[in-house]
Amino acid sequence: MKRVLPLFVMVDACGWEIVRHDPFCQGLAPHRSRLDSVFGYSSSCVPSILSGRWPDEHHNWCYFVHDPERSPFKSLRWLQWLPKSITSRRIFRRLITRLAKKRLGFKGYFDLYNIPFQHIHRFDFTEKRSPLQPGGMNRGANIFDELVQRKLPYFVSDPGASEEANRDQLARELAEGTIEFAFMYWAGLDGLLHRVGNTSPEVPAKLREYECWIQSLMDAAAQHYDEVHLYVFSDHGMANCTEHVDLMSQIQPLNLEFGEDYAAVYDSTMARFWFFNEPAREKITALLERRVPQGRILPEAELKSMRTPIADGYFGELIFLLHEGVLLVPSHMGERPITAMHGYHPDAPQSYAALFTNQARLPEEVTAIPHIHRLMMHEVNQKQAARTADKPRIPALQSA
Ligand SMILES: [Zn+2]
Repeated sequence: MKRVLPLFVMVDACGWEIVRHDPFCQGLAPHRSRLDSVFGYSSSCVPSILSGRWPDEHHNWCYFVHDPERSPFKSLRWLQWLPKSITSRRIFRRLITRLAKKRLGFKGYFDLYNIPFQHIHRFDFTEKRSPLQPGGMNRGANIFDELVQRKLPYFVSDPGASEEANRDQLARELAEGTIEFAFMYWAGLDGLLHRVGNTSPEVPAKLREYECWIQSLMDAAAQHYDEVHLYVFSDHGMANCTEHVDLMSQIQPLNLEFGEDYAAVYDSTMARFWFFNEPAREKITALLERRVPQGRILPEAELKSMRTPIADGYFGELIFLLHEGVLLVPSHMGERPITAMHGYHPDAPQSYAALFTNQARLPEEVTAIPHIHRLMMHEVNQKQAARTADKPRIPALQSA
């Protein structure tokens, strides 16, 4: 029986609009399609891909929530007494992030970003485990739980290592022929796009580099595998930011007390609010509706249709989303503006993701990023079927 390697390569932020007029992967994976993304950031898109379920099912959505009772950050509160010229610096934040991650035993991606130390004891961080590991979802299983259960040896990239180190590690494992499944996660394009925007000539140059890397992995696989089923895909796109909004300083004159009257997480493209009394709810809602034309309050029905986990208010009671291209500056994610961002409405032009494959026929309809899990499960099931067929039959009992 033919030995097949299913190779799944996730290129973070390689959106449909980024590659639409680019020959990306034309030779390697000529069948391409546009995919709907998931409302949220990579913290929600990647778990949706890995589990095949939506945020209202797996509850991996936005990183920070207002939850003072369960906040693990109480010991960091004293940092509010240091001057902001120190505590708002990225290098200082990175250092505190590293120390906190180690002490709290968080296994996934963790960053304190620009969360104010004055209020840090009010927040909890929702991704304490890594969705790239078995048992890593907030709720339910992911593809790695399936692979472990079926005892299929696999490769998954290490988010702590560089793109090149992950590429070389996979190439080594392919050359040894020890794995039956591979999931590569490259984040370099995402970082580049945030920095230079989606029209920079550096973007196609990076795409050419990825093509070379994928080709080298295909070559490494050729020794032990008869076929590589290649799937290259993204989690979302990237929009250039042309306008900034300072929501925090618009809320300030309302004379409401943060933590007493309301709480908010200012993500880069949305603000999420919790209210502790009716006047606070009314004042903030009126402000957002009447005086911030750069975004809108998302109605409950729309959030539900996007499969956002809002039923219990855990991730916020009110979600204010900015229009594509508008950025919150400052926000709890950053003090200063960046060139491009994602996390807008999934219907916004730059939000769509992409899929490229060398498989002419996909086993099921694949229209949104959680459906990539179906492709992975199809490959895993094929593997298991092949293994069962290859097993030597137990000889029938001889009759005396
Ligand atoms: Zn990003």
